[in-house]
Amino acid sequence: MRAGKYDGADRGSTPYRDRGSFFITDYMGWDRLIGQERVKHMLSSAISSKRVAHAWLFHGPAGSGKRAAALAFAQALQCKERFDGSVCGTCSACHKVPRMLHPDVHVLIPHANDAAPADLGARVALLAESPYSVIDYARRPSLDGSGGASNKQVSYLIGQVQEELRAPMSYRPVEGAWRIAILTHAQTMRTEGANAFLKLLEEPGNNTVFILLAERLDQVLPTIMSRCQQVRFSPLDADEIAAGIEREGLAPPDMAAVLARMADGSYEQARELALSKELRRSRDFILDFLRHAFKASGDDMMSRVDELAAEGRESVKFHLLVLLGLIRDLLLFAEAGKTAPIVNVDWQDVLVKFSGGLPLARLDTMADAVEHAIYMVERNVNQRLALANLAITLSRAMRGDGQVEAVPRVG
Ligand SMILES: [Zn+2]
Repeated sequence: MRAGKYDGADRGSTPYRDRGSFFITDYMGWDRLIGQERVKHMLSSAISSKRVAHAWLFHGPAGSGKRAAALAFAQALQCKERFDGSVCGTCSACHKVPRMLHPDVHVLIPHANDAAPADLGARVALLAESPYSVIDYARRPSLDGSGGASNKQVSYLIGQVQEELRAPMSYRPVEGAWRIAILTHAQTMRTEGANAFLKLLEEPGNNTVFILLAERLDQVLPTIMSRCQQVRFSPLDADEIAAGIEREGLAPPDMAAVLARMADGSYEQARELALSKELRRSRDFILDFLRHAFKASGDDMMSRVDELAAEGRESVKFHLLVLLGLIRDLLLFAEAGKTAPIVNVDWQDVLVKFSGGLPLARLDTMADAVEHAIYMVERNVNQRLALANLAITLSRAMRGDGQVEAVPRVG
């Protein structure tokens, strides 16, 4: 485990483009695809057996890895050293494809009429950081998070098909063996856009590969669907998602497991949760909770407890795991000081303040109490009662009360 890798909250506060590139430097080609072993096998076999269809339709739920698979497939097709469906990882194509720099691999995003080319380019560039980045206009109307949901019609317009697809796909490959176009959200291809695209599909050039991505098969026009080789993606297992989150260094194991369950089969969703507001909000919330538990001024504390208890079970559990992470860091800090291998590396100042301000705190008791509260919440007991007990126990333990009562069993 490398120190300082669980910096999800920090990254969440910086613009997307500044996020780390941990993933790309450590994992290439098929290794960037989380799970989906069957798909991996199918696509690499298509290359090794020289049966590469000129049009593919990858379909399956959001975040199941369709873009990651399409990019890995593109890399395996373009690799200059391997021709068996694997990638060498060192040739110029293997360098360029995952970094979104290959001139013969085009990624298209449906957009409104007035989308700025620079903005489109920035969205595609996000895939270099992770093929699981959220890039579409529906879920991320602006890249910097400003502005709310857009009600602009987003689709493949005829102009886009002509300019971004027909032109580049009709030239000879610039430096690769194939010309590859990846069309995200292919279900938005309708009417004129679809007709223009169908013409391209009907008269494919040599070594041309179109990869269409769509969440649901029944949303894709039948005329398009029937011309593509279909590849189905299943929702990911929570274990696969958790392993990916850990591998990317976005959360420690226990929190990765919770994120994975909250993400409902979507690695994209788990990644978003880990990187952004949920974790940040939770961290702010539990610090506040701890402060109020320490002050322990009756009504005030109960209002915090009520606020927390009002959230869903998974969400409460998530908060409690964040709290447990902080207390474990405090334990490590108490033992080893500033060299302690803590998880919340950006909370050094909090740890220093806490240790200095509460020298009598019984950290073991605090950790036990949080673990017990998680146990209770998992078993669907009265959340409010479990959290009220937790707040009381934390309050006493922080003051170093000699006799801390055992946490009463509830339910
Ligand atoms: Zn290569």
